[in-house]
Amino acid sequence: MAVKAYLRPKSPSEALALIEGDERAALIGGGAYLRLASRGYETAVDLCDAGLDRVRVEDGALRLGAMVTYRRLETDLVVRDCSGGLLGRCVENIVGVQVRNIVTVGGTVAGRYAFANLTTALLALGADVVLARGGRKPLEQFLADKAPARDVLVEVVVPTAVRRSAWRDLTRVRSDFAVLNVAAVDVGGEVRVAVGARPGVARLARGAMQAAAAGDARGAGEAAAAELDFGDDLRASADYRRRVCGALVTRALEEVLA
Ligand SMILES: Cc1cc2nc3c(=O)[nH]c(=O)nc-3n(C[C@H](O)[C@H](O)[C@H](O)COP(=O)(O)OP(=O)(O)OC[C@H]3O[C@@H](n4cnc5c(N)ncnc54)[C@H](O)[C@@H]3O)c2cc1C
Repeated sequence: MAVKAYLRPKSPSEALALIEGDERAALIGGGAYLRLASRGYETAVDLCDAGLDRVRVEDGALRLGAMVTYRRLETDLVVRDCSGGLLGRCVENIVGVQVRNIVTVGGTVAGRYAFANLTTALLALGADVVLARGGRKPLEQFLADKAPARDVLVEVVVPTAVRRSAWRDLTRVRSDFAVLNVAAVDVGGEVRVAVGARPGVARLARGAMQAAAAGDARGAGEAAAAELDFGDDLRASADYRRRVCGALVTRALEEVLA
């Protein structure tokens, strides 16, 4: 990734001013995913000095700054306790510690990557995103936005009333992108289920959530397999993913409902 100018704004609003109206400027979180692309950028706007690396609990919610790394999700005791361990578990097998020390919450969520384990977990947890210009909105709405405006993701806000949580994913080899991933959470008595890497971006499985509310883990697996769309790619066929979805949702909910 070649860049001509490298800037380090001191706040999200300063970063927003630098990218607004300049299609040739790119925000840099960890920069790990951007580096995989061959394209260059006129201006790189690195968020490392923008004060976005904080983890705090405020008004009954866990607030994760956009520059919080995956390694922090694994090791921070506040993050672990607030998410029932889910946020650490969903990333702990991604590549190696060196990469997890670099990649960020903001780069993952803003990238809307369909394969992203973290996005699936955050969706199940009922997270909101906070944008410098667009303000606060549910992650589900952010992911569904068909024409996203250029903006700076400031933080992710996660409810802390998590009673139980479960993570399941299937990979062909360890540390590969998931063939499918599933998060199930009991948040304040509401059971929520999200499925990602179908290979489309993570979605809530609402039929499965209804079956889970009735305590039916097997029925929830069947509902998720029936209601979600699945596709083919080099890792798996749509049909295989549908079968895996039923099994993983059932197993995740058996853990949450136990
Ligand atoms: C080798 C490798 C293997 C991986 N394997 C997996 C895997 O198996 N499973 C998995 O779930 N993930 C995997 N990932 C993805 C990784 O987990 C992160 O999701 C990804 O690297 C993005 O995080 P980043 O901090 O590097 O983002 P960056 O590369 O910095 O940015 C990604 C995009 O988001 C934009 N951006 C960054 N920060 C912000 C912000 N605050 N506001 C708005 N826009 C922003 C950037 O402009 C860019 O478009 C892998 C990544 C790498 C490099």
